[in-house]
Amino acid sequence: MTEDTHTDTLRTPIVAVLGHVDHGKTSLLDEIRGSAVSEAEAGAITQHIGATDIPLDTISRMAGELVIPDDFDLPGLLFIDTPGHHSFSTLRARGGALADIAVLVVDVNDGFQPQTEEAIDILRRTGTPFVVAANKIDTTPGWNPQEGEPIQRSMEAQSERAMSMLNENLYEIIGQLSDAGFSADLYWRVQDFQKNIGVVPVSAITAEGVPDLLAVLMGLSQRFMKEEMAIDVNGPGEGTVLEVKDERGFGATVDTVVYDGVIENGDEIVVGGQEEPIVTEVRALLQPRPLAEIRTEKQFEKVASVGAAAGVKIAAPDLDDAMAGAPVRVVRDKPLDDAIAEVKAELAEIEVDTAEDG
Ligand code: GDP
Repeated sequence: MTEDTHTDTLRTPIVAVLGHVDHGKTSLLDEIRGSAVSEAEAGAITQHIGATDIPLDTISRMAGELVIPDDFDLPGLLFIDTPGHHSFSTLRARGGALADIAVLVVDVNDGFQPQTEEAIDILRRTGTPFVVAANKIDTTPGWNPQEGEPIQRSMEAQSERAMSMLNENLYEIIGQLSDAGFSADLYWRVQDFQKNIGVVPVSAITAEGVPDLLAVLMGLSQRFMKEEMAIDVNGPGEGTVLEVKDERGFGATVDTVVYDGVIENGDEIVVGGQEEPIVTEVRALLQPRPLAEIRTEKQFEKVASVGAAAGVKIAAPDLDDAMAGAPVRVVRDKPLDDAIAEVKAELAEIEVDTAEDG
């Protein structure tokens, strides 16, 4: 190696949660975040802006024997905090979906509903790999809850009657997936996750099956996305705007998920705007303060740089016209015009896509 700063590493896969309203997206994310915080060694969980980064060793503690750290070389999972397919479909990255993998939450009693169908269409269109979380298994009549247990152990503790009702609901969902054109099965029966969708029975309230869900997400990422996760950690940062927000003392800021390279304080960046790409300079990179209350936190801490995959709030002049879903590009050593052209090209794709949605 010479003085080359090109360093490939594997980044964290970005996970989005989709599904029909009230099927439990928020509860499932809250359960995963809450349990990650209590399982992590002090300070190990970093709450990002707009996303939660759960390192592999914490996932392994949460999933028990289902995730053995030595089997994996991806660093963990980054969950986007805002659930729902409306945010999912606007969150693009280089023409594809920003999320590398998705969890489709389906209420096990309700089965497919209109927004489940919509979510499936979007997942199909973007070619995003996904797993189905068949949620609310604890509402099965006669259910004997097994707090936080892997699904097999939980199922062993159920009466025959409860199991037969649950199975009936699960097979209904598998049938609906098949009607939608996806061959699916209970995840432990799936041999080839590239051909079949795994269904994971879970409860966001009792956390039964959550270990399995994490194990399937890690397994899928590791097996099928390792190449896409290889990034140049020192390369110019690339990201997608989650939200544009006014912040006291900073003016308009963009909450951004960085999916490639690194953004440094002082970097020249190009951000997609309502009219024209915005060319500006990073004045501050902000994260929630550590140990802060998740979600209610208003105070930020400045960081010098942010590498993929991560959520960060970028403060910079002239961001008022920035748009949610728009690309963010660090200019660094490429010509400014090239960065502007890239941003323009991406914005054009988003417009085409939004037109298709409407
Ligand atoms: P979202 O609209 O998909 O984000 O759904 P929420 O997470 O807000 O959940 C809707 C309702 O279902 C809330 O009252 C939750 O407490 C409840 N809920 C979500 N998951 C479960 C579950 O696994 N079991 C039970 N019993 N209730 C759940």
